[in-house]
Amino acid sequence: MADQATQSIPERPKDTPAGEAGAVAPAEGEKGPSKSALKKAAKEKEKAEKAAKRKAAEEAQKKEQDANDVSSEDYGELPMIGSQEYKPTGVKRVTLAQIADKYSETTPIDEAGGVEVCFRAVVENARNQSAKLSFLVFRETLNTIQAVVAASDSLSRQMVKFAGSVPSESIVLVHGLVKKTPEPVKSATISHLEIHVKKLYVVAKADSQLPMQVSDAERPLPLEGEEAKEDESGRPIVTLNTRLNNRVIDLRGKHNRAIFAIKDGVTALFQEFLRGQGFIGIQTPKLLGAPTEGGANVFSVDYFATKAFLAQSPQLYKQMMIAARFERVMEVGPVFRAENSNTARHLTEFTGLDLEMAFEENYHEVVEVLENLMLYIFNGLRTKYKKETDLVRSIYHVEEFKLPEAGKVPRIPFSEGIQMLRDDGLEIGDYDDLSTPDEKRLGALVLKKYGSDFYVLDQFPLNIRPFYTMPSHTAPAHQKDSTDPNAGYSNSYDFFMRGQEILSGAQRIHDADFLCKRMKEHVSPVDPNSDGLKDYVNAFRYGCPPHAGGGIGLERIVMLWLGLPNVRLASLFPRDPNRVAP
Ligand code: ATP
Repeated sequence: MADQATQSIPERPKDTPAGEAGAVAPAEGEKGPSKSALKKAAKEKEKAEKAAKRKAAEEAQKKEQDANDVSSEDYGELPMIGSQEYKPTGVKRVTLAQIADKYSETTPIDEAGGVEVCFRAVVENARNQSAKLSFLVFRETLNTIQAVVAASDSLSRQMVKFAGSVPSESIVLVHGLVKKTPEPVKSATISHLEIHVKKLYVVAKADSQLPMQVSDAERPLPLEGEEAKEDESGRPIVTLNTRLNNRVIDLRGKHNRAIFAIKDGVTALFQEFLRGQGFIGIQTPKLLGAPTEGGANVFSVDYFATKAFLAQSPQLYKQMMIAARFERVMEVGPVFRAENSNTARHLTEFTGLDLEMAFEENYHEVVEVLENLMLYIFNGLRTKYKKETDLVRSIYHVEEFKLPEAGKVPRIPFSEGIQMLRDDGLEIGDYDDLSTPDEKRLGALVLKKYGSDFYVLDQFPLNIRPFYTMPSHTAPAHQKDSTDPNAGYSNSYDFFMRGQEILSGAQRIHDADFLCKRMKEHVSPVDPNSDGLKDYVNAFRYGCPPHAGGGIGLERIVMLWLGLPNVRLASLFPRDPNRVAP
């Protein structure tokens, strides 16, 4: 082996131009190389030969060491699972969580040398402390534990070196002994235990150069309007764009895991509460033959020889389900909006939590169900998702979400909200839509007056709501020959968290003839006989109970509950006007 290596052609030193290191032949008519150039070339040659010899000697030594490696069977890269015949090992594997549970700080470890365990984990980091000692930190979900790989008669230096060089984020299979630590390990969540590694196999190796580190995902992004390039320790902040481009690594961060556990929790609480109130979960189509809600902000897609449109909400279908005698329906599903809104609150695809229900006498019966639903979700997050909430809020420092007492959700008429803003110095018309800053300002005023971050604004102006909204009983729309049928208020409402809208809803028109009239006289008129709307209108010709409902943006709830600076952080793979990948 050594001979073979010495015979190999020595590499040309990096800075030497081609032709210089070997014989330097002068071109015809040129002067020969100077003495000093010849001397330099000879030196380079000698250097290269020495380097080659050294390399060969090292390789020979390594080969010899490998042959004597007592641990050669105890470490290395495993063949790709699936590429070889499956032979069960019969070795019971545990999780880090189980280890932590079983050996609490006060539970003694009886076995003198520690307890044998086998587990699979991710390498958070690995380092060679010396030729005889390496340290690793293993991670599994939210748990981390330190591991030691120490050379001994039965554990080779080669294995120590291998262990300390496993790239971060690789997945490994570990056999080792659990022992108590003399001092708490600050860098690990399981600080009172450590693993003394006996065998270490790489199951799936990560690239040694990652586009970003998981720890980058565990630092806060600047808040909306803030421009931070470095964090408090002076380390550059990885931008949201880079994080989203490398979302698989980004999502490994523990705060992200918590965010999506909470998002799942909101969905579960939504369904749990409504199912308990007799709602049935439905799935309405997302591919539509015609744009249904006026045609604005809708994506069109090829549909065989024709076009189809992506649903902007399940609105019309939810109502058709009420006409189909389902009485109470709910849906969790995707909502597509072709809005070119590049804000921290808008996505082009988000998750809608929708519901619709028949009521007996007044739409406030539905508002009450919605208020109780939201309180149920907030209280569920407080109790069942406290750990996750606290973790995320540890980097996005946000005030505790202030809840009203049950049954006392501030329900403020729109006109009163306008008056509160005017009293605060804002110039605004009676029927003006609220801008985002106006909404935030009103949120602050409501918090001051009612002590609640959650409130309802009721009776919105009719002219800023969709055609299917029931006008208030006082609105001109109910009178014959009114000059302005879009004037006045409507039986519609928005719900707010920290001054930002999370839910929009209303009593819907359940009378087909009145619905046709409103479609035609609406500020953005639509044709009741058009392809996308005639089946919807007909649904109300066969007897439909009065009903109301609402649509909630799931990502908005998560963002506002946690005080996240951007709604994209609450979407796994967000879609916005500039992003449809990954
Ligand atoms: P906004 O005024 O904030 O654009 P909107 O009035 O268009 O919202 P609705 O059509 O009433 O909203 O949708 C119901 C709910 O869906 C909203 O209250 C919000 O929580 C959520 N939502 C609406 N648009 C978006 C969006 N583009 N991205 C994320 N969530 C959204």
